[in-house]
Amino acid sequence: MSKPTDAADTDAITRTTCPYCGVGCGIQVSTASTGQISITGDPRHPANQGQLCSKGYALAETLDHEGRLLQPVIDGRTAGWEQALEEVASRFRQVIDEFGPQAVAFYVSGQLLTEDYYVANKLMKGFIGSANIDTNSRLCMASAVAGYKRALGTDTVPCDYTDLDQARLFILAGTNTAWCHPVLYQRIERTRQRHPEARIVVIDPRRTATCGTADLHLQLKPGTDTWLFNGLLHHLAEAAALDWGFIEQQTTGLLSALTMARETAPSIASVSGVCEIPESDIARFYEMFARTDRTITLFSQGINQSSSGTDKVNSIINCHLATGRIGKPGAGPFSLTGQPNAMGGREVGGLANQLAAHMDIGNAEHRSIVQSFWQAPTLPETAGHMAVDMFSAIAEGGIKAIWIMATNPLVSLPDTNRIREALENCPLVVVSDCMRDTDTTAVADILLPAQTWAEKDGTVTNAERRISRQRSFLPAAGEARPDWWIISRVAQRMGFGDQFNYHSAAEIFREHAALSGSGNNGSRTFDISALSQISDQEYERLEPVQWPLGRDQTAIRPFADGKYYHADGKARLIPVNPRLPRHQTSPEYPLALNTGRVRDHWHTLTRTGKSPRLSQHRQAPYLELHPDDAYRFRLEDGVLTRVASQWGAMTVRSRVSGRQRRGEIYIPMHWNDQFASAGRTGALVNPVTDPVSGQPEFKHTPVCLQAIDPVWEGFLFTRRNIDLSKIEYWVKTRALGVWGYEMAGFSGTEDWSEWAQALFQSERQGAEWVEYIDHRTVRYRAACIKDGRLEACIFIAPGREQLPERSWLAQLFRNERLTGTERMSLLAGQPAENQPDRGPVICSCHDIGRNTILGEIYQQGLHSVESISKRLRAGSSCGTCLPELRELLHYAGQSGF
Ligand code: SF4
Repeated sequence: MSKPTDAADTDAITRTTCPYCGVGCGIQVSTASTGQISITGDPRHPANQGQLCSKGYALAETLDHEGRLLQPVIDGRTAGWEQALEEVASRFRQVIDEFGPQAVAFYVSGQLLTEDYYVANKLMKGFIGSANIDTNSRLCMASAVAGYKRALGTDTVPCDYTDLDQARLFILAGTNTAWCHPVLYQRIERTRQRHPEARIVVIDPRRTATCGTADLHLQLKPGTDTWLFNGLLHHLAEAAALDWGFIEQQTTGLLSALTMARETAPSIASVSGVCEIPESDIARFYEMFARTDRTITLFSQGINQSSSGTDKVNSIINCHLATGRIGKPGAGPFSLTGQPNAMGGREVGGLANQLAAHMDIGNAEHRSIVQSFWQAPTLPETAGHMAVDMFSAIAEGGIKAIWIMATNPLVSLPDTNRIREALENCPLVVVSDCMRDTDTTAVADILLPAQTWAEKDGTVTNAERRISRQRSFLPAAGEARPDWWIISRVAQRMGFGDQFNYHSAAEIFREHAALSGSGNNGSRTFDISALSQISDQEYERLEPVQWPLGRDQTAIRPFADGKYYHADGKARLIPVNPRLPRHQTSPEYPLALNTGRVRDHWHTLTRTGKSPRLSQHRQAPYLELHPDDAYRFRLEDGVLTRVASQWGAMTVRSRVSGRQRRGEIYIPMHWNDQFASAGRTGALVNPVTDPVSGQPEFKHTPVCLQAIDPVWEGFLFTRRNIDLSKIEYWVKTRALGVWGYEMAGFSGTEDWSEWAQALFQSERQGAEWVEYIDHRTVRYRAACIKDGRLEACIFIAPGREQLPERSWLAQLFRNERLTGTERMSLLAGQPAENQPDRGPVICSCHDIGRNTILGEIYQQGLHSVESISKRLRAGSSCGTCLPELRELLHYAGQSGF
């Protein structure tokens, strides 16, 4: 099949979509005749208009086959596809025959393409007859779905990215947009440059990079957002800022919502007391909201990941409905999705409480539409287990077989130690993944090799309801297959052949589009049936398309016609009674843990962990804590710290930071057993969920801290992965084509040489081993050199501060042959020429570190981001680091510049 390619010299260009966040940026992949691949933003894609962030630009560094799962594996032995498919089908069939359809489950992912998702949902709900299919998107946006459905009667995001050009007040609630959706953040900044009167308000317990250009940062107590927005609703009524015409014509429920708001947030003083922010700041925020018609509220995990996430979403939507700020340009409550295809999963019913095509499991008419469309033997009448409950059901023995697709729940779910125990005891665990070694594949009985981003073909839907094609540009690695192929071939072997006889993603897409129109007649916003007849060629060339679709295939702004999807056609304001997070701090667990992302990593590192550029921004798991808490718990910056909750423990380095409120700490979610000895944040997180949405409370777990004092610290570089499982603390990082490991131990060794040589047994074969040891001061350095080329090196010292800087050492691995001076410098533990420590990377496009930038700011007297870009190129490409450059300028100013 031909691809939409543009001839540009000798390069073939494939237009596809970024596999990371929900912005859904269009990408152009250029494949030169030499095989060299380069990635740029697609200027024709409406989501990003040619821009990409640091993660998108680094995609070419993640395409190698290292660590890929290349063949099916059954009970630890490689197998052919025929045997693997037969085995999955027969083992699932056995469990269903013996225990019924409720004894099996699928746990799927926002990384799947819509076509994969559609087939998985069809198999479980229509043919196995259980609703036990849920997705890791439950962890990121289920509360937004539930909130929209309660208010609007439909899971329809009412905004799109053009609203970011038209809004004049941006409220960024519980979202670090600058790091997690950088292309949208820059779009907001451009609007502000064009319209200096536009304002940005950030609502977040942390002072994140997003606060850099904010006019107002409300650094509220975690979990108190509902008081803030209830107070706003009450204030809008008092200030006569409600839109009564809109309210009367298009909504119900104002009075009860207002009564609840007045009772729970009667005054700015009361809101200030609960949220712990100054009254004057709250008054300023309320006044900005009251006077700005074009107000858009962007929210994500800080709102959704809460035991009252749905209520928080509705408290936001209430304020928009009461002021008529929805269904209009530049206004609305806008949920930013985390994953590339969280929205596609919602469209096909990938959640346990949905049917396909935005239909409801509890609605008999909807069940009848889906059942007859699929010609399915059965359809469940009640919701299945949502993510956290699904794994509890496994632990309790109710679910005896699970198929996990394209996700790593042993890292990403809360209370992961319990999840591990559950899966280890589950009679059948099937995992489809593109990677061989993840925390989850380690507990699988059967492994099925799935294709990865560059190999897959299908569609994804971004946060603004825009469906885009993901096109393959590399051949499949090994025996890897598309997920839809794997699922449908298992379905055929389970006896459902006719309904799963798919041969292409296009065929599945047409069926999915046709179902969206079935029995619809305007009763559901999700209707893409206009695309149900497209040919294979038209599918191949499909341009990004946004729903709801009009007859002529142009997008329609949702709710612009004043029509909502409750029985009375009106939107509902929901009375929201605020609740604090379920588990509060105590003398035993005195600090509240907040979790989230870092700028340059994605999920559980299986892809971004391969990129040297992305790995240099944040190299190891860390916790951020306020200086007062650091003093209180006797923790210095950089020390190893054990963090424990009632559910588990981990070990990280402390970063003392004024970004945190007192009494709260922050730890990123990405690290796992493949990249760190004890870096799984999920092990700490409490498994409490929102009662409506089932979304877990990732943003608030009580924890305690304790400094750890290792006997020695060290690091090593090697060209291959090595096993450090016997060392108490280690973290692995990609650096310039080699792997770097940071290490620490709580007991020493009699013979460092013997110890180090045992680590590098295979490197030492036919190689030269040179070393330096000072027994008195416990300093050890060694290098393994083969045919003049550096293969590995290791440095040990009593403390971290006695270890050399790393970047010059990583550079030595690039040399085909070490010079005599370089050998000397290796053993001396310092570069031959003075090479200053550049510090952690800030600009990943141009590989420029913090210390280099600060040095230039001080020495050259740089005063603006533009002058930094001109001098060093930092910030001149994707722009993702611009907020950090501004922070460095601010820091330099504060530190006496
Ligand atoms: Fe990918 Fe970055 Fe665009 Fe998100 S903002 S889709 S990570 S390029």
